Amino acid sequence: MIGFIYHELFAKHLEGYAHVESPERYLAVVDKMKRSSRVPHISFREAEPAKREWIEAVHDKSYVDSILSLRIHRPVVLDWGDTVATSATVEAALHSAGAGVQAVRLVLDGECSSVFSAGRPPGHHAEKNRAMGFCIFNNVAIASAYLLEECGLSRVAVVDWDVHHGNGTESIFLGDDRLLYISLHQYPHYPGSGHARITGTGRGEGYNLNIPLESGAGEERYLEEFDRQVLPALDRFKPEFLLISAGFDGHRDDLLSGMRLTGDSFGRMTARLKEAAEKNCGGRIVSLLEGGYNLEALADSVEKHLEVLAGAGG
Ligand SMILES: [Zn+2]
Repeated sequence: MIGFIYHELFAKHLEGYAHVESPERYLAVVDKMKRSSRVPHISFREAEPAKREWIEAVHDKSYVDSILSLRIHRPVVLDWGDTVATSATVEAALHSAGAGVQAVRLVLDGECSSVFSAGRPPGHHAEKNRAMGFCIFNNVAIASAYLLEECGLSRVAVVDWDVHHGNGTESIFLGDDRLLYISLHQYPHYPGSGHARITGTGRGEGYNLNIPLESGAGEERYLEEFDRQVLPALDRFKPEFLLISAGFDGHRDDLLSGMRLTGDSFGRMTARLKEAAEKNCGGRIVSLLEGGYNLEALADSVEKHLEVLAGAGG
């Protein structure tokens, strides 16, 4: 049984504020999956808020304080311009972070074979001590730290196929050999990081794999790198759990990238990761929504992604 984590707060963050990272993104995905005939059996679970200590495992206490103490009456900008908070944002961010932890719990406890979190705000640009790129708390990093610190796992892999490099996730785990971070992203592009020479520091050396791709790359190019780099790295690392930073903004209809992926491409990338997870970690996969800004392309891609995750063997 595949799980899907939702919460009405995910449609409240930035409600009534004109922003590309809109509540309609969440609503399009939920609407699609509630009616999906391709993925008929989904266990819908309401998100629970993250505990503060889970968040503080990856973010500085002073930063967490600064977010949790916000009392927002009119929209405020949290960074240099693109990360905005409205009155529901703090609660939404707590639930978006909590959804990631809940997702890994559902898989660990055997309640679901894999779980998708439709949480907003997204997370992979958020760094230890700052919001960035529409992200406030780094949801995938928080779920990963929960697995490593609270559940006693020693090897967690994050594959980030959002079209933007996940600078936050990279920086949080750059010196850590317990987390293998693999990112495929358009380069050069926002946020500017993601060069292939960044491979980790100290004992984390060799556990950060950036795969920069030229604008215009399509499915063939992505799958070539999956076969050449992503899958061999996962097989070497042998993760005990696989997380996906699932951004769908590499879709050819997405205005925030120059890539040429289709909904089916996300299905094929999912199939490869599912196979790698079955080989290495009993099929344990959790994926968290990151970007994806064309509503129709996003909903279609999420459906293809979940169709494959829910498929035979899952
Ligand atoms: Zn993105």
